[in-house]
Amino acid sequence: MRATVLYGPGDVRVEKRPDPTVQAPTDAVVRVVRACVCGSDLHPYRSMPVTPEGRTMGHEFIGVVEDTGSQVANVKRGDFVIAPFAWFDNTCEFCREGLTTSCLHGGFFSETQAEAVRVQQADGTLVKAPVGEDSALLPSLLTLSDVLITGHHAAVTAGVNARTSVTVIGDGAVGLLAVMAAKRLGAERIILMGRHQARTDLGREFGATDVVAERGDEGIAKVLELTGGHGSHTVLECVGHMPAYEQSLGVVRAGGVISRVGVPQYDQASAGRSLFGRNITLTGGPGAQRKYVEELLPDVLEGRIEPGRVFDRTVSLDDTHEGYRAMDQREALKVLVRP
Ligand SMILES: [Zn+2]
Repeated sequence: MRATVLYGPGDVRVEKRPDPTVQAPTDAVVRVVRACVCGSDLHPYRSMPVTPEGRTMGHEFIGVVEDTGSQVANVKRGDFVIAPFAWFDNTCEFCREGLTTSCLHGGFFSETQAEAVRVQQADGTLVKAPVGEDSALLPSLLTLSDVLITGHHAAVTAGVNARTSVTVIGDGAVGLLAVMAAKRLGAERIILMGRHQARTDLGREFGATDVVAERGDEGIAKVLELTGGHGSHTVLECVGHMPAYEQSLGVVRAGGVISRVGVPQYDQASAGRSLFGRNITLTGGPGAQRKYVEELLPDVLEGRIEPGRVFDRTVSLDDTHEGYRAMDQREALKVLVRP
């Protein structure tokens, strides 16, 4: 099969790799119908050390089951399935609490920009969707693999509801879908911090009531002005860089919650008096939870939400390098990959 491999900064190649096979009785092989490029893929795309072996790329996909191991009972050949960006058994003590990203027998995908994927723990991981390969819903279903469930995780862990004001930091796909998730959970005041107008316009359509294009101290001052000088009850940090975290500290209200779902590109950050003195809660993390896919799927199937609007470009698998380039250059918000 063909698969996307990164060899170093900017060096994306699509090359032949061995076809995935069932190796354990709990495995399935899924033929990829749609994959995509994630904002988090851009971190290694920009800074990965050059390596002669390369590393396979991608963690988001939807597809059709081609083969299953002898113990797989919930999906069968021909089923259309959604995979969140982690795999898990859905039976261990963490999975039973809903935290499938901490599954004792799980892991994270890193090979899905390809023609097919080996899915470990297929019964726990894969969620069936009653659609065909030509469904107009494919882009929206693909967001259940990462960007929508990640935005939803930010909103859920922050405790967003009808009584909380919300500030979303970041106008990438996760930020825009965090707006959608906050709106879906009942938030009435949603401030979106982002400076790309085409993106923040989409954010307004998803439910943002205010847009703040300024960053740093100026951006913080704007949010404080919009919130009576006190800041926002909940802050959904959807970027991962230090300035976005510092901005979160600046716009959160006393007693509020910051939830981070952008993968932090730092190890050290201010977490002493900046959080303590004002009773701030810091939460967030990877949100590849099965319950989110199951909860959000009906809204997508019935057309109540259309998260697939974040995709503004499609490339063939052979042109995946062009998808990375377009996202890196901010020409594209999110790129769909079609094997
Ligand atoms: Zn588990």
